[in-house]
Amino acid sequence: MEIPTYVKEVLEALEAAGHEAWCVGGCVRDSLLGREPEDWDVTASALPEETMAVFGGQALPTGLKHGTVTVSTAEGPVEVTTYRVDGAYRDHRRPDSVTFTRSVDEDLARRDFTVNAMAVNLRGELRDPFGGRRDLEAGILRCVGDPDRRFQEDALRILRGMRFAACLRLEEDRAADAAMDRNRELLREIAPERIQTELMKLLCGPDTGWVLENHPMVLGVFWPELLPMVGFDQRNVHHCYDVWRHSLAAMMHTPPVPVLRCAALLHDVGKPSAFTLDENGVGHFYGHAKASVALADAMLRRLKCSNEFRERAVRLVEWHDRDIPRTDRGVRRALRALGEEDLRLLLALKRADNLAQAPAYHGRQAEIQKGEEILDRLLEEEACFSLKQLAVDGRDLLALGLSGPALGEALDRLLGQVVDGELPNDRAALLAAVRREAL
Ligand code: ATP
Ligand code: MG
Repeated sequence: MEIPTYVKEVLEALEAAGHEAWCVGGCVRDSLLGREPEDWDVTASALPEETMAVFGGQALPTGLKHGTVTVSTAEGPVEVTTYRVDGAYRDHRRPDSVTFTRSVDEDLARRDFTVNAMAVNLRGELRDPFGGRRDLEAGILRCVGDPDRRFQEDALRILRGMRFAACLRLEEDRAADAAMDRNRELLREIAPERIQTELMKLLCGPDTGWVLENHPMVLGVFWPELLPMVGFDQRNVHHCYDVWRHSLAAMMHTPPVPVLRCAALLHDVGKPSAFTLDENGVGHFYGHAKASVALADAMLRRLKCSNEFRERAVRLVEWHDRDIPRTDRGVRRALRALGEEDLRLLLALKRADNLAQAPAYHGRQAEIQKGEEILDRLLEEEACFSLKQLAVDGRDLLALGLSGPALGEALDRLLGQVVDGELPNDRAALLAAVRREAL
């Protein structure tokens, strides 16, 4: 395992001062998997004030109560945390107290999963008291100690476990799997922001579909709106899956972009409430996109997603069932409404939604491709679809004597006419049109 030089220097400085120091947790796990770790965390026998003394001005006391000191290096911060054992957990979130210890194995024992409970030192010695390496090689996610107890201490671990299973393609061992469902109600104690962060990572894994299919009830604790989808028979030849499995299949056909995965998971959440059965026994879902929008909006608000994230996800849900734009004008209109980035996400969602329908209807892929080709061409031609690109701006209209709301409306109207191909994006032509219409 290759520890980066800037991290080695932190370990060396601690050892030189007579302390023990190890890389620990996610970075060890990811290195063993041959992945680039997100960050390198260090655990050390040094007490926080001792770590502060070793690094002087380089050290910031970022979490002294929990023993964490952040050491800034030229290549980024390294968190150094004192070996610690956690006291009782009364709130299912965090320990009432922490106690520092002199044993690295005691520190490893407080960590959530065996694959996260390994440490490596400067000499490449692996500390692995719970068989994390063996589990990693066998592709197993196992709790350190009794799963019920570990999830009761901190219920966020349920979602962390699902995230590791989904993202690292690990299989939960039977005890962890059952305990995740059994203790799910404790997630009510966890702050929505923390659930949101973990969930968005969980949604972006290569095995997310399996994991969610296996644990719908866990998501149902904070998103009960999902539960009516589970097993909901669509009674329609377009569909070979129930609404839940269709949604999961669609999600797994999208690239791992959080806002897109989220939109795919929620695009049909309004279907159960919009269901009608006709005289031939065929199921219909008229207006389901609108119902999905209302539910998705409430669900994302509940998890305190940013306004920008929520609005983008909800807009994708809203647009998912509209006709695919297949004319220049249609694509320009969609570009105006969504912008390039989100229109591409919409087309990806359309592809995924279609691939998750019965195979006889996969011919739609060609229509979507046509939309994508038009989009590529229009962008190459630098077609105008935003006010920024319009050949006139506010100052031009001000000079013509327009002001206030009338000015904004005139600009919007001009853009609409250019987008619809009624006017060329040409300064003289646009100014002439304003003179004709507005004055
Ligand atoms: P990643 O950084 O890829 O999101 P990670 O496993 O490194 O995953 P961090 O939140 O960075 O997660 O935590 C670092 C380490 O701290 C973990 O590997 C684990 O050993 C321990 N840890 C983090 N959160 C918890 C928790 N809720 N319960 C127990 N141990 C935890
Ligand atoms: Mg980490």
